[in-house]
Amino acid sequence: MLEKEVKTPARPGFVRAFDEHHPPDPEVIADCVHCGFCLPTCPTYLLWGEEMDSPRGRIVLMKLANQGEIALTEQVTQHFDRCLGCMACVTACPSGVQYNQLIEATRAQVERRAPRSASDRLFRSLLFALFPHPDRLRAMLPLLWAYQRSGAERLLASRVATRLVPARLRSMAAMLPPVRLNAARPPAPYIAAQGGKARRRVGMLLGCVQRAFFGDVNAATARVLAAEGCDVIVPQAQSCCGALSIHAGREDEGLRYARRLIDAFEAADVEQIVVNVAGCGSTMKEYGHLLRDDPAYAERARRFSAKVRDVSEALAELEPQAPRHSIELRVAYHDACHLSHGQGVRKQPRAVLRTIPGLEVVDIPEGEICCGSAGVYNLLEPDAARELGERKARNIMSVRPQALVAANPGCLLQINVALGRLGAPLPTLHPVQLLDASIRGVWPEGVSRR
Ligand code: SF4
Ligand code: SF4
Repeated sequence: MLEKEVKTPARPGFVRAFDEHHPPDPEVIADCVHCGFCLPTCPTYLLWGEEMDSPRGRIVLMKLANQGEIALTEQVTQHFDRCLGCMACVTACPSGVQYNQLIEATRAQVERRAPRSASDRLFRSLLFALFPHPDRLRAMLPLLWAYQRSGAERLLASRVATRLVPARLRSMAAMLPPVRLNAARPPAPYIAAQGGKARRRVGMLLGCVQRAFFGDVNAATARVLAAEGCDVIVPQAQSCCGALSIHAGREDEGLRYARRLIDAFEAADVEQIVVNVAGCGSTMKEYGHLLRDDPAYAERARRFSAKVRDVSEALAELEPQAPRHSIELRVAYHDACHLSHGQGVRKQPRAVLRTIPGLEVVDIPEGEICCGSAGVYNLLEPDAARELGERKARNIMSVRPQALVAANPGCLLQINVALGRLGAPLPTLHPVQLLDASIRGVWPEGVSRR
């Protein structure tokens, strides 16, 4: 029945949807037994109730495209584009279907072969000319600072602008975090472990958006790791990790970034590579798979991936050594999809937060459902992202926290905007910022006391 809905008969001149370079693996597709257990956790299925916007429906589309029975029409491409890549379906699937591999392969095919409008291509090119380049982002900070202070931000949120300015540009402007010209500088290339002999020698990823807009989180990460007995190496030559490009199907570009990052961290000779952005960590753990065809990098990529740890994983592996001070605060912990579904990291951030005396950590109802951020999804599909953001915000409001904590800047921005729209703004923090405040004995910045 599903197949009939989208099948178009092969005809003379029919162009195969997918080319020969890593189409979605038919063996992985065959693992799907169409049970539908994944449907209730799929955000796009929850939004529209459309089979073809569910994991099961998308897998059928991949199968038909592989068999040359459907083309990459605008309609088919849209079903793939609408997938957030949140991987909630991977967690839910009792048959172990590796949907993450399927959608990644499909996105690369779509990017190479599907026709897109000129405006769509232009917008995508703009995003990727900007976000993987921290230097370019930093160079724009004075302009963005002036924009936020000029009142143009309020103008862009007005009803008139809603009619005149494309939704994608409005969404991009709305997601801009508060710009600070005196933001924290990147950590020094080397920060020595405190408390005598180092327990670990770790490398630290700076991220791109993280480096430009959330320098405080990087500074807190370096301080916490050092306080917990790690020598912290911050390779200065590090580039983007390629996560955004790979999630968007820009395979060659993403792999170029991956190779450069491997080079930079190999030179640092570290035991672990610590990451404080869920989306980056999830992709870096996949380098071994992504670079499997590259004889010069395949083995090095596997070794690199084996060293990658989310900062909460790295800290949870170490017995706490730095004394904690009490922080009497009730926080809601949001599971970033690329940490929980992508890396299976759920216990560690909660365990790390629970080392802080006085801190109350509460879970959010429907915690497994994506907030709509998903890399650049909220910029490319702003309407769906908005609905998901508000659903998440309402669930957060239901547990009455004083602050929201998550390990991904994209989630924090997305949810912050949604909470603001619902008139319930909250301070937002990365878990390491709370731990850093506790270790230093200071109150977390931007949070009011009870
Ligand atoms: S990755 Fe997320 S949005 Fe995509 S099919 Fe799976 S659950 Fe649905
Ligand atoms: S992806 Fe897994 S859970 Fe979803 S329909 Fe297929 S087998 Fe069932």
